[in-house]
Amino acid sequence: MGDRDMQALDAYFVAERMRHLEEYREFLRIPSVSALPSHREEVLRAADWVARALRQAGVPTVELLPTQGHPVVYGAWPAENPGTPTLLLYAHYDTQPADPLDEWTTPPFEPTIRDGRMYARGASDDKGNLLLTLKVVEAFSALRGQPPTGLIFLFEGEEEIGSPNLRACIQEHKDLLRADAVMSADSVMWAHDAPSLVLGSKGLIGLQIDVQGAQSDLHSGLHGGLAPNPLNALATLLGSMWTRDGQIRIEGFYDEVRPLSERERAEIAAVPFDEASYARSIGIPAPVGEPGYGPLERNWARPTLDVNGLWGGFQGEGNKTVIAREAHAKITCRLVPNQVPAHVIAAIERHIQTHCPPGITATVEQTAGSSSAFAIAPTHPVLRVAREALRASYGRDPLLIRLGGTLPVAEYFQKDLGQDIVFLAWSMPDEHLHGPDEFFRLENFDRGLRIYTDLFERLSVQWES
Ligand SMILES: [Zn+2]
Repeated sequence: MGDRDMQALDAYFVAERMRHLEEYREFLRIPSVSALPSHREEVLRAADWVARALRQAGVPTVELLPTQGHPVVYGAWPAENPGTPTLLLYAHYDTQPADPLDEWTTPPFEPTIRDGRMYARGASDDKGNLLLTLKVVEAFSALRGQPPTGLIFLFEGEEEIGSPNLRACIQEHKDLLRADAVMSADSVMWAHDAPSLVLGSKGLIGLQIDVQGAQSDLHSGLHGGLAPNPLNALATLLGSMWTRDGQIRIEGFYDEVRPLSERERAEIAAVPFDEASYARSIGIPAPVGEPGYGPLERNWARPTLDVNGLWGGFQGEGNKTVIAREAHAKITCRLVPNQVPAHVIAAIERHIQTHCPPGITATVEQTAGSSSAFAIAPTHPVLRVAREALRASYGRDPLLIRLGGTLPVAEYFQKDLGQDIVFLAWSMPDEHLHGPDEFFRLENFDRGLRIYTDLFERLSVQWES
């Protein structure tokens, strides 16, 4: 972009900063807590607020798309020239609940600036990031009459409750959402001084294992050595799933895992991770897990299987000489690229049936919707340009990170729109997201404005799909 152009946009951001912060506060004052039925009107008020802000930014088409729950705010500004790309921007206007209220230094919905930080529920997740994308559009609109690329906005009000209606909304409005690329302004950087881009996240499956022995609880003296014990059986079954050092022993479990390339291992190795301080922070002697892989490789790029709950039998004080009739476990697995959830579930079921001790019946039930892992190629045209824009701003190459967690929206955009999503936002892991005293660094609001501006400019001139 021309220096003069950037200077004019910069000058605009400086001149409008107080107003931007005032609007940011206004947005934060709306307690749009999606989880609370009592806040339904407030969530709707936030949706209206965002719709109005889009219109004020000059976006020609703005509407609320109704869903079974809270509405999706939609906006569209078509590209001027057929050669310029259209980007779909995703973010969310709902927030987590604010309790426990007495742990906040200032009330969660009375936004307060302290030490260059905006303190309020939603300041970082995700209202600050959402708003700065709108202010970028507004700046282009004011100075040039339009943004340099086509833009579609899709802001949901149910992210914090797991986006139960987003997928249906995307499917219903596919024609409104046609874009050359999808970006999310809901994401976390590696650290305040370490800009990063997300290359992947994990998939998820959940299962409940129920094991059954005799038809009723039995006396362990009368029946010991004769009747099958479901709790012993469950312990045997679960114990057969890992080696002592944490490798998963279920046949076929790793079959579809795409091995890490040299490049990926180098990217991961470039991310600073202090094992000792991590271990200290959670009170363990050292990180543990599958041999042959570094800690971040295990967390980001190797599948895991965890027991999340176990129950059955006597749990009161003292002894009870009982052989319980049943026992249960809940397990979840985090999956990595190329693993098909249904195949992993089938492998676990086979393992359980093959290893089930005599006299015991075991059943396996899927407990939640499953999702596949997400991965985006570093050569993705928008990701490549985002990397350049970050490098230009920070004077260093961003880290390429993955997430051990799951991003359901990534799968929706991938499956329903055929788009890998580029995450670019300025929340930092230390900003108390979902906790008391959530905050957003205002210097990142400023930086986000400039980098998004730069990114749209770069994409308008160097688009190759
Ligand atoms: Zn969020």
